[in-house]
Amino acid sequence: MNKCTEYYDVVVVGGGMTGSAAALGFAKEGMSVALLEKSQPSAFDINNAPDIRISAISYSSVELLKQLGAWQHVQTMRCTPYRQLETWEEEGSNIIFDAKSLGLPELGFMIENRVLQLALWKECQKYINLKLFCPIQLTNLYQPLGQKEWVITLDHLRHLQAKLVIGADGSNSQVRKLSGIGNLGWQYSQSCILITIQTSTQQQDRTWQQFSPLGPRAFLPLYNNWASLVWYNSPANIRRLQIMSMQELTSAISQKFPKRLGSVMAYSSSAFTLTRHHANRYVVEGLALIGDAAHTIHPLAGQGVNLGYRDVDTLLKVVRYAKEYIKPWYSLTILKNYQYQRLPDNLFMQTGIDLFYMIYSKTLPGLKIIRNIGLMTVQRTETVKKLILKYALGL
Ligand SMILES: Cc1cc2nc3c(=O)[nH]c(=O)nc-3n(C[C@H](O)[C@H](O)[C@H](O)COP(=O)(O)OP(=O)(O)OC[C@H]3O[C@@H](n4cnc5c(N)ncnc54)[C@H](O)[C@@H]3O)c2cc1C
Repeated sequence: MNKCTEYYDVVVVGGGMTGSAAALGFAKEGMSVALLEKSQPSAFDINNAPDIRISAISYSSVELLKQLGAWQHVQTMRCTPYRQLETWEEEGSNIIFDAKSLGLPELGFMIENRVLQLALWKECQKYINLKLFCPIQLTNLYQPLGQKEWVITLDHLRHLQAKLVIGADGSNSQVRKLSGIGNLGWQYSQSCILITIQTSTQQQDRTWQQFSPLGPRAFLPLYNNWASLVWYNSPANIRRLQIMSMQELTSAISQKFPKRLGSVMAYSSSAFTLTRHHANRYVVEGLALIGDAAHTIHPLAGQGVNLGYRDVDTLLKVVRYAKEYIKPWYSLTILKNYQYQRLPDNLFMQTGIDLFYMIYSKTLPGLKIIRNIGLMTVQRTETVKKLILKYALGL
């Protein structure tokens, strides 16, 4: 082997929200870990306006972040709790999910993606057994003939060797491609634009979403007078919104968003195409995929990174258990336990969201009435509401 080879128990490729959580979890187990990230996130400045990329982080994900020690750093930067989640199509068919119904202090928090990543990185710095390589580009990944360990080539001079490689490098995962894992996916016929706004009133702790056949319109409360809007529509209409000035966008919002939004000012915006994909398998010998590298879903239910955190939690538990019983924790046999638990759950959530997306994108006569009766029925059936909420929160 090359003289510049460094040996690790675990190499995590991708230092985003899921990869850095996984790296931290393995480091806490006392393993030697390398975390590779291609771009350095910019530092947090409390005086700056909120980032465009916001995620609704559910109660169970927050619990994981607390266990990992990263939550304290999120709180020193910024996050906003939400305690109610309301959804409807026609006024009167509203369903309101409330944290109180499950005896929880909140359903989750709205957090800027970068804040979450920086919080995890800050906690990572405490571990001398965790080395962050950033900025770095993965150039190759292979198992030398007859070996089970993986070699990760960073540049011509540096190689890493690992018992376990984690692919956390997002939907276009190089790790997935280089390890020969196939995937199946498509682009939705809907895109979305995220808009950071300033409102005329102080935000409360309710997030809401109104469905319409062209796509939902959602409101995510942030701190003080800041909030975020998610506007789904046809790709052509989103492209039109994307090129508007902030003044034009403000006026489009006031025409198309529910009146309860009140008077707002658009501050910044960014558009996204929406894709769904699912890897055919999550594991091979000495390698596992997590987060968007394994699956992406329509963001209408704010589940993407939350599913990623369920992957992290399960993988850590599977490996911890195998280590306790002195089993080869990086072997395919062990890693399959992770896949058995996570793949069906992610697929179920993806399919459920797709069903929701399809039902709400159709304008068939009569379907709208059925949809609204469905919403009203769920609102009146407390047990069903609690079951849905528990599932969405990963409880
Ligand atoms: C519009 C929109 C709204 C969303 N809202 C929510 C929400 O409210 N709640 C929610 O749970 N989810 C939401 N999601 C989904 C969520 O953003 C993703 O699920 C989440 O970002 C996935 O995190 P990840 O760490 O797996 O992947 P990514 O965020 O894609 O991170 C991958 C990381 O790997 C790095 N990387 C890539 N390639 C390499 C390489 N070769 N070498 C080294 N590093 C590499 C990248 O730089 C990046 O930092 C939303 C998604 C969209 C599009």
